[in-house]
Amino acid sequence: MSTAAATEEMRDRIESLLADGLPTEVFPRADTHEQVMAYTRRLREEGRSLADKLRIGGFTLTPVEHEGMRQICRSCMYYHMRRKWCVLPELDVPVEPEWSCRLWRI
Ligand code: SF4
Repeated sequence: MSTAAATEEMRDRIESLLADGLPTEVFPRADTHEQVMAYTRRLREEGRSLADKLRIGGFTLTPVEHEGMRQICRSCMYYHMRRKWCVLPELDVPVEPEWSCRLWRI
C-alpha cells in the first residue's frame, strides 16, 4: 500500500471510530502549561493504539467553541496544511481542518 493510501486509510479509520461514538475526553481543554504537560505525558505513556490517542486527545469531528475561540485543526499551530496532518509528536495523525482536539493551540 502506498503512503498516501495508508494515510487516507488512517484518516478514514479515525473518522469511523469517532462517528461510531468512541468516547473521548473533550474537556477539560489544555488551557494551562500543566494541562498540556499532563495530557502529552499521558499520550506518551498510554497512547499506544489509535483509539487511545483519540480518547486522551479529546478528538471531535466537529469544531469546539471554548473560551470564545473556535478550536479547530485548521487554526492550530500543530496543523500542517498541505499534508492535513497533526504534527504534535504525541499525536502524529492525519486530521481534517474542521476536526478538533483538546490540545489545540494558537
Ligand atoms: S493538536 Fe491541533 S492539529 Fe493536532 S489534532 Fe489537536 S487541534 Fe488538530
